[in-house]
Amino acid sequence: MASHIVGYPRMGPKRELKFALESFWDGKSSAEYLEKVAADLRVSIWKQMAEVGIKYIPSNTFAYYDHMLDTTAMLGAVPPRYNWSGDEIGFDIYFSMARGNASVPAMEMTKWFDTNYHFIVPELGPDVKFSYSSHKAVNEYKEAKAIGVDTIPVLVGPVTYLLLSKPAKGVEKTFPLLSLLDQILPIYKEVIAELKAAGALWIQFDEPTLVMDLESHQLEAFTKAYAELESSLSGLDVLVETYFADIPRDAFKTLTSLKGVTAFGFDLVRGTKTLNLIKSGFPSGKYLFAGVVDGRNIWANDLDTSLITLKSLEGIVGKDKLVVSTSCSLLHTAVDLINEPKLDTEIKSWLAFAAQKVFEVNALAKALTGQKDEAFFSANAAAQASRKSSPRVTNEAVQKAAAALKGSDHRRATNVSARLDAQQKKLNLPILPTTTIGSFPQTIELRRVRREYKAKKISEEEYVKSIKEEISKVVKLQEELDIDVLVHGEPERNDMVEYFGEQLSGFAFTANGWVQSYGSRCVKPPIIYGDVSRPKPMTVFWSTAAQSMTKRPMKGMLTGPVTILNWSFVRNDQPRFETCYQIALAIKDEVEDLEKAGITVIQIDEAALREGLPLRKAEHAFYLDWAVHSFRITNVGVQDNTQIHTHMCYSNFNDIILSIIDMDADVITIENSRSDEKLLSVFREGVKYGAGIGPGVYDIHSPRIPSTEEIADRIKKMLAVLETNILWVNPDCGLKTRKYTEVKPALENMVAACKLLRSQL
Ligand code: GLN
Ligand code: ZN
Repeated sequence: MASHIVGYPRMGPKRELKFALESFWDGKSSAEYLEKVAADLRVSIWKQMAEVGIKYIPSNTFAYYDHMLDTTAMLGAVPPRYNWSGDEIGFDIYFSMARGNASVPAMEMTKWFDTNYHFIVPELGPDVKFSYSSHKAVNEYKEAKAIGVDTIPVLVGPVTYLLLSKPAKGVEKTFPLLSLLDQILPIYKEVIAELKAAGALWIQFDEPTLVMDLESHQLEAFTKAYAELESSLSGLDVLVETYFADIPRDAFKTLTSLKGVTAFGFDLVRGTKTLNLIKSGFPSGKYLFAGVVDGRNIWANDLDTSLITLKSLEGIVGKDKLVVSTSCSLLHTAVDLINEPKLDTEIKSWLAFAAQKVFEVNALAKALTGQKDEAFFSANAAAQASRKSSPRVTNEAVQKAAAALKGSDHRRATNVSARLDAQQKKLNLPILPTTTIGSFPQTIELRRVRREYKAKKISEEEYVKSIKEEISKVVKLQEELDIDVLVHGEPERNDMVEYFGEQLSGFAFTANGWVQSYGSRCVKPPIIYGDVSRPKPMTVFWSTAAQSMTKRPMKGMLTGPVTILNWSFVRNDQPRFETCYQIALAIKDEVEDLEKAGITVIQIDEAALREGLPLRKAEHAFYLDWAVHSFRITNVGVQDNTQIHTHMCYSNFNDIILSIIDMDADVITIENSRSDEKLLSVFREGVKYGAGIGPGVYDIHSPRIPSTEEIADRIKKMLAVLETNILWVNPDCGLKTRKYTEVKPALENMVAACKLLRSQL
């Protein structure tokens, strides 16, 4: 019985690649040094897998920045603005495409399916001249071979590559990207030929778009592409790997009928229905790569349960055709538990990061051949049992309260327009009220104070004093700027999820559990391992301190349940919505405590609500239903005259506008300036919005300072489609990544623009 790993994290156990990349970009170290760090990481990963006993070890899953960009380089699909000479693509062109350079902006980046990984979107048009321009796949294959590891080289499949591309600037939106298949396949053929010549016996094409809702002409492209590649592939075993969701029935049929393909890989963690498809018919003589070990989470596999699944599959495809694998690339999980010496040992026994998952895959494969590692299995069974019965996981009161929410509806008793009236009586705001989203610049000094407090180098007293001073500075500044609804600036927060997770029970934090987000950027999601509850108020102290410094309304500032959920590693022993309801109840307590403490405006951020949207449309309604319900639960208990704000960013929202309305917040502030026309177009097309709304008036991601005229223009555009009495004026998002020298003039101009328009109304 064989074992396989779909792909492996690139950053290294201590983010070695990140530091090498950043130092290279800063001009502090050489290209040779970066290449050496990268090569050492690749070699150590290959050796590690080989030593464990993995049979199909992937190569070319490493990337200096992104594997889609690697494919763009392989195909020579460099957009003309980079003035590429046409030679083999080196760091210069590669990193210019990824990050831009002094004269040319970067290519666009977008989310890789529903993960938090972002890829560089290919820009294709009829003018691109494809040519084989990066030999990376072949070089990596040879590099592994040189140390005695015969790998399975991995390429992004040709159809997925095109389906994830966008038409280049100036090319019509309707440009048929799939028509480029004929031009890219010859390059794939060259790569395949070189891999063969170098001795490769297998090749893996990642075609995860097969799990999406595809139209029949898109499915036909797969049939066509692999038929075209068939003769070049002859003599090789060919794996087409899918992941991230159940594969639809028609796509399963297309996939399993592909010419020249001898093996199919499926995500059996997210793809529970896929199992039935396999059982109802799998082509004889083909390999099944069964992804039973979760590549997107940090939980140890339930080996006994996986073994049962694998045995049933063995009955269908035959002993020698079943390969144990991961559900997707391990890129989406943390790297190695060995670097978590401080993590609680019981919790640790429930976890498996990438390095541990490699052992799990191997142990399952060996067990199927009758060489079961009894000690490994019984330790795993004991950990599973301890997780099920641990009092740290279960809190019956919380379970009960959350279960009671299911199937019910929670809405504030009064409708939004009556609430806005009641709030206005109390708040007495001018028309076009101004506000900001929450955070103010996070200075080096501020970070130092937080770090030293955490390390117990400064006393609580000193810490509170420094933070209060910071808040007071931010409050004064906002009063000077004449902003109407103030924020405290969030100086006590490192991260909008971590801050809450650290104070809620049921959360654990790692020291090195980093996951690549894009390029050298990594995130360290908290782990939700148990029922979530709130032992004590989390923000009341700071919010009331801030409110005491001003007569203007001070917004209480919370992160919403859906965002906390979507930015964490979530437990897999109960449905996501149940965990979300639990978090919602904890936030509800906080909302009510803030209200009791005299806070009259409370913002509950749901920046990541749209991110959790399932890949397949058929599942959207269910998700949106419980996600929006969770949000409403947080504030269903407040008085009419307490104003609830929410904030969203990072995406276009037009497709979920009805769900946003259904959140029933009193005011929403929403990122808008990078997609100006788009958001407003929904309202132009007649969607009625009765609550307060503040589409961002300037982009906070850029250091550029917007002029008064420019902002006034933006507001005018908004006034053309939205009622004057519901419009708020605010930036796109929090200001924490900006400098005061940018924030001050930008906000000055924002308030000036607003006053100008007020005087004209
Ligand atoms: N309140 C948070 C801030 O201002 C919101 C951040 C976000 O939406 N990403 O930083
Ligand atoms: Zn935001």
